[in-house]
Amino acid sequence: MIRLSHPISFLAALALLIAVAPAAGAERVLTSKLHHVRSGATREWADFPAEAEAERLRIAFTAEPNAAEATLRIRHRDVKQTWSVRINDREIGKLPTDENDVVTFWTVPTGILKAGDNVLLVSSDGKISDDVELGDVRLDDRPQGAVLSETRVAVSVTDENRQPIPCRLTIVDANGSLVTTSISSQPGLAVRPGVIYTRDGRATFGLPAGRYTLYAGRGFEYGVVSAPLTLEAGATIERQLTLHREVPTPGLVACDTHCHTLTFSGHGDATLDERLVTIAGEGIELPIATDHNRNVDYETAARAAEVRKYFTPAIGNEVTTPRMGHFNVFPIAADASPVEAAATDWPALFAAIRDCPGVIVTVFNHPRDVHGGYRPFGPEHHLSLVGENLDGWKLEANAIELVNSGALQSDVLQVYRDWFGLLNRGIRIAPVGASDSHDVARYFVGQGRTYLRCDDRNPGGIDVNSACRSLADGHVMVSLGLLCEISVNGKSGPGDLVSPADELTVDVRVLGPSWTKAESVALYANGFKIRDAKIEPGDAAGERGVKWKGTWRLPRFAHDVHLVAIALGPGVKELYWPISRPYQPSTPVWNSYVVGSTGAVWIDADGSGSFNPAFEYATRLVDKSAGDFTALVLKLADYDEAVAAQAARLAHVCQLATPADLLAAAARTDHGPIRNGFLAYGEAWRECETARLNRK
Ligand SMILES: [Zn+2]
Ligand SMILES: [Zn+2]
Repeated sequence: MIRLSHPISFLAALALLIAVAPAAGAERVLTSKLHHVRSGATREWADFPAEAEAERLRIAFTAEPNAAEATLRIRHRDVKQTWSVRINDREIGKLPTDENDVVTFWTVPTGILKAGDNVLLVSSDGKISDDVELGDVRLDDRPQGAVLSETRVAVSVTDENRQPIPCRLTIVDANGSLVTTSISSQPGLAVRPGVIYTRDGRATFGLPAGRYTLYAGRGFEYGVVSAPLTLEAGATIERQLTLHREVPTPGLVACDTHCHTLTFSGHGDATLDERLVTIAGEGIELPIATDHNRNVDYETAARAAEVRKYFTPAIGNEVTTPRMGHFNVFPIAADASPVEAAATDWPALFAAIRDCPGVIVTVFNHPRDVHGGYRPFGPEHHLSLVGENLDGWKLEANAIELVNSGALQSDVLQVYRDWFGLLNRGIRIAPVGASDSHDVARYFVGQGRTYLRCDDRNPGGIDVNSACRSLADGHVMVSLGLLCEISVNGKSGPGDLVSPADELTVDVRVLGPSWTKAESVALYANGFKIRDAKIEPGDAAGERGVKWKGTWRLPRFAHDVHLVAIALGPGVKELYWPISRPYQPSTPVWNSYVVGSTGAVWIDADGSGSFNPAFEYATRLVDKSAGDFTALVLKLADYDEAVAAQAARLAHVCQLATPADLLAAAARTDHGPIRNGFLAYGEAWRECETARLNRK
């Protein structure tokens, strides 16, 4: 009975005209389509069409004055900026800033609708371009409470032993959109549109009549179960679901080194109580509280929220400097004051961190992101290839975020290459994965995470100090939807030193839940790929949680190297665990991914009893060549590309060779590692030099 006229262009707005007035008590569809709207001049993402339909959504419709509250619903996707929703020039709300596909409901206050022509306008100021999809707009003349309580669903989720289990419920409609339910957060529940975290697996909520799919999951280590819901108005249904553990992680603690709350950081949307339920619901066993320049202790609140047995919280702080980057420090003694973050250089900052009682781990956060106009690993500050800070600052962090699921990189391997450069320089720094979540559902907690070697039999009783020491010692794995294990000669893992042997046996396993996929795995020595394999579904069929396993036998290395394995797969698109788009993209093309990687295994090939980084070999060779560049190049023939790149840097700095000499030597040599190392250095140096010259 609702007829929609053809969309017409009107003042560069998508203008829709609804010609027919509604019958009383009905839901009116103002547009059923999803419209591509772009605020601003540039295309935000390459997967949107080059041209948008319009720069705002404008729908003209006829109505009668509303004598009681009515309800407006809009489906929206990829909302990153602020969009205002107005009826007849009165703002009735804003679209939630959320890239996910979501259906949101707003109350239309009494008297907003008028007799005859009415206009709905959804618009943004266009200062920053934002491609969004808006549609499935409906107006219902009942109040919001009545619309959302048309049906009632009672869910209970247990583990295999029929014990209640904290988990995340996801509710999507027939279009695949997250749908707002009738309930809001309360003790034991953290609720957002289409997402309910529950501390005991139970939740009862209302939904508009319709067809839905309900999912239950508990983060990376568990399966996802689903149930279809067909709900007629007035229906009450119950669903019982069983969650299965899918990924075995004995002896590994699931840690999120980067957790925020609205309560203590002042932005995002997760209150402290909501955060605690989400941590339990994603199966994080060691959450580090890292609000900005605050020492936060979850202990008391976690006990009050009755979730303390699922995890052991650690007091931490995201030391947030105005212009020198962000560093997570933990654990912090209960009575310590927050680290002074006003220092204006790294040496002063790291001195302040050293003075903070209890601290074992200092994580260098999101090193490629710009905060306060400063990108720590931007080429004006950092020569990534050789791990050198160009401002002369020493990096005293002992861990680095390779994966931050709330601020993903366009290129998943970008920060890995930075990390390899640091290791080759001789900076021992452990890799971590973290969420940086400030939210309940938009960027959620525990998606990026770190597995660290530590007794995990009692998640509520983890020895925080020994867990943190294990992390600092590099006994870690980085996880975003995958887990990659490495064992060298049957016994040494990440953070271990492997004594000299004629052959190395490298066993690698890639694990993950049934709902993620791995496509490839590669082994890197000093940051250079030496082995790789494609992963086909069913490669390791029969082994619980294992997607691939294989053994690589390596001949003895000519010198020490660090070994790292990295597994990759396509990103999870399903809304029960969606991988978000990059926070500060370097390209409009987004290839979503999951990744699991090992920490570094140190191979002592030269038998010195410790690990010697590429920088050390290069220093020795430059010293020995006594000012003779040709002699240096000859000596490098026994070394890899990492040593060649470090030697190129040293030769350049001590004026043994100019960049032009290095390029000429690269052209002359038929030794691959020397040529590649010198060429890579020439390119990296030029990029830094250009960036430094262009600085204001
Ligand atoms: Zn930060
Ligand atoms: Zn943060």
